[in-house]
Amino acid sequence: MSRWSAINRLGPYTLAALIWRAKKRCTWCGQEVAKGRYAIDHVVPRALGGADVYTNLVLACGECNVARSDSPGVPPALLARIDAAGRTEAECWDEVKRQLEIPVGRGTWANTCARILAKQWFGNAITKDLANARSYKARVAQEQKRVPF
Ligand SMILES: [Zn+2]
Repeated sequence: MSRWSAINRLGPYTLAALIWRAKKRCTWCGQEVAKGRYAIDHVVPRALGGADVYTNLVLACGECNVARSDSPGVPPALLARIDAAGRTEAECWDEVKRQLEIPVGRGTWANTCARILAKQWFGNAITKDLANARSYKARVAQEQKRVPF
């Protein structure tokens, strides 16, 4: 999933929680993922009906995400990256399982833990959300001031 659609679809806090629960590391190659260079990988690809839910999303680096493509497993290009990183495919699937077992979303512990990360990585999106919420509140207040009849 592209970075912008991830922010829009999941919201900055849940997206940050996905990154937090992965310890900021790519699920496949294990490298630390830098701000602006991450990808959200669907364990069951969207093309095969996989959903945008925390039980189907793991963190990846952009390169591993591209190497995995729409495969439900580990295609040769991704396996080459895993090998090059000195990891095994089994380790990667264990990491997938570990991440998917941590609930993510509004009100979860993960989202609370990821608050600072959310502000650091997605501060602009959060500010925009707040601005939208404020302008909505202001509009409602203005509507309420109007004499209805
Ligand atoms: Zn990677």
